[in-house]
Amino acid sequence: MSVATQYQHVAAELAQACRQFGRDPAQVRLIAVSKTVGLAEVGDALAAGAGDFGENRPDELVRKANGYPQATWHFIGNIQSRRIPDIVAHASLVHSLYQARHAEKINAQAEKLGKVQDVLLEVNVSGEESKSGVSPAQAPELLQACLMLPNVRVRGLMTMAPQGSPAVAREVFEGLACLHAQLKGELEPQVAAQFDELSMGMSQDWREAVAAGATMVRIGRAVFSDAFCE
Ligand SMILES: *Cc1c(COP(=O)(O)O)cnc(C)c1O
Repeated sequence: MSVATQYQHVAAELAQACRQFGRDPAQVRLIAVSKTVGLAEVGDALAAGAGDFGENRPDELVRKANGYPQATWHFIGNIQSRRIPDIVAHASLVHSLYQARHAEKINAQAEKLGKVQDVLLEVNVSGEESKSGVSPAQAPELLQACLMLPNVRVRGLMTMAPQGSPAVAREVFEGLACLHAQLKGELEPQVAAQFDELSMGMSQDWREAVAAGATMVRIGRAVFSDAFCE
């Protein structure tokens, strides 16, 4: 199948799942994770209607965002201090912030560029050692630290579920939604109003994420890999 066909198929399935779970399809954004493909495939997805793309490596973010500045670019990978200038220059949303020291550097860089950087806090809900993210218990402290930074705006939370069990994935996603509601309840109204995003769900588990309240799903293989089968 072509990238265009696969993209349109996933988009249709997503809209269908939204209806099934009582979600408004306009409230769940499909982010095409293009980390394994080149510029041509990004162009194919763009032509098929994709508007949001995710990258996990700064080099690729820079290359592809320069190739397609009309798209919206999301940084979903591990943050390294020395790459923060590239990330802030190109990402409209950083999904993977979990350290206060990176928040401070993002703030400084965003100030230089005259922008406010939208970020999500990555939370390790499952507690797996292989996963990055702040623990749910430490999320309030990180959120408070970010709220002190005028050029960083925390838009919500992100997580990744363990592979393999839809039931476990669903629990993890519901855990993130619950943490989000708790944190939101403690924010000032104007801040709370912008703290509205839940980035969760990938090719294998996006349906569970939609059921649990995802506002963004990050889908790579189901859009870009011929070999992906559910
Ligand atoms: C690669 C990646 C995805 C997409 O995963 P697929 O299984 O290919 O859909 C989503 N989120 C993050 C953080 C990733 O690194």
